[in-house]
Amino acid sequence: MTENTNVTPNARLIEIFSGIQGEGLNVGTRQIFIRFALCDLRCHFCDSSSTWIAPNECKIERSPGLRDFEIHSNPVSLSMILEWVKRQNIPCLHDSISLTGGEPLLHASFLKEFLPQVRAATGLPIYLETGGHRPEQLMMVLPYIDSIGMDFKLNSVSGEKRFSEHARFLQLCNESQVETFVKIIISDRTDSMELERVAELLANVNPQIPVFLQPVTPLGESAQIVDAPIVLAPSPDQVLIWQGMMKRLVKQVRVVPQTHKMLNQL
Ligand code: SF4
Repeated sequence: MTENTNVTPNARLIEIFSGIQGEGLNVGTRQIFIRFALCDLRCHFCDSSSTWIAPNECKIERSPGLRDFEIHSNPVSLSMILEWVKRQNIPCLHDSISLTGGEPLLHASFLKEFLPQVRAATGLPIYLETGGHRPEQLMMVLPYIDSIGMDFKLNSVSGEKRFSEHARFLQLCNESQVETFVKIIISDRTDSMELERVAELLANVNPQIPVFLQPVTPLGESAQIVDAPIVLAPSPDQVLIWQGMMKRLVKQVRVVPQTHKMLNQL
């Protein structure tokens, strides 16, 4: 089958802005965030449920960090997104570009075209934040990714059951030798046995992969997802026990909450 080369690549966005990364291995670094619309998961603790459905419009920051947003219509062409990212990329400010969402890998066809161009235009490393459940789409973009923050969704916390997809995804990350860390949201409902099963899988793939246990940030009343159970933070004792349990199997297990929320950042 011949590929249709007349189709102009475009994507549905939520926003582009310059901000401080609040999670995982890149915590505290300055990034250009490209937040993509759409997610096919429905985590009970989701603080980005507004991304689940693509809006008609997206918000594009004009000057890095000034929150002087312009409004544009979705979908947006690759060339426009490239221009907006280049406009954000003032000298010495950013450490990397964050692909976030939503689920960025739902836009894998677009990313395959976009990433080589944005890398060439900015010289910035590309960091992918993902739900870690779409290995086929990961394979399409892996050559253009410098680091990956992969969520491992615990069924007892998120309501999602994605163990086999996560296992395949992690294998691919490890085989490609792209820098990868795993983030696991923990709550008062975390099932210790499930967490241990995840630690065993991680140990089998590569016990050196850093793991971040992230105590859930409870959703405010207005952000609470309809029909989802209320998700509360784990107790201090639970966190200590789970970190200790996982450290018997994997080398690096850090406990870090969402720091951008503490700093009142986007
Ligand atoms: S994967 Fe992320 S955006 Fe999607 S539902 Fe879960 S927390 Fe929300």
